[in-house]
Amino acid sequence: MNITPKTVVVFHYTLRDEQGTELESSRDADPSAYLHGANNIIPGLESAMTGKAAGDVFSATVAPEQAYGLRNPEKVQRVPIKHLLFKGKLRPGMVVQMNTKEGRHPVTVTKAGRHTADIDTNHPLAGQQLTFDIEIVDVRAASADELTHGHAHGPGGHHH
Ligand code: ZN
Repeated sequence: MNITPKTVVVFHYTLRDEQGTELESSRDADPSAYLHGANNIIPGLESAMTGKAAGDVFSATVAPEQAYGLRNPEKVQRVPIKHLLFKGKLRPGMVVQMNTKEGRHPVTVTKAGRHTADIDTNHPLAGQQLTFDIEIVDVRAASADELTHGHAHGPGGHHH
């Protein structure tokens, strides 16, 4: 079965940045699962997946516009440190979680003071070209529930 909209794709991935540094990998854990055609993954990766089948191994290099977007320099702000979740000493360059009205978001610390910190709320991978090394483990038809929910269920997907 080839990857088309309304299929669930189970896959392993290793994510690397422009310098080739490994950022994330599913290799030490269960493969991930997503519902194809439902914007569950970044657009550039989803289009690279189209038409592939179980057993396929390939690399996809995705421009920032098709990944986490370009960096917006205006998304830097000063916030009270108490809004940030971190362990140890706050340092520039750290990615920490920030509590907001909409929930928690990863932000990058650009400057750390005693009571406030300057944080960059761009996604940590914004502005980066990303390369995914992909192995397709399984492709199956989505269930009616998965189509209604707009995501994959079961191992690597959502659990309710
Ligand atoms: Zn669901």
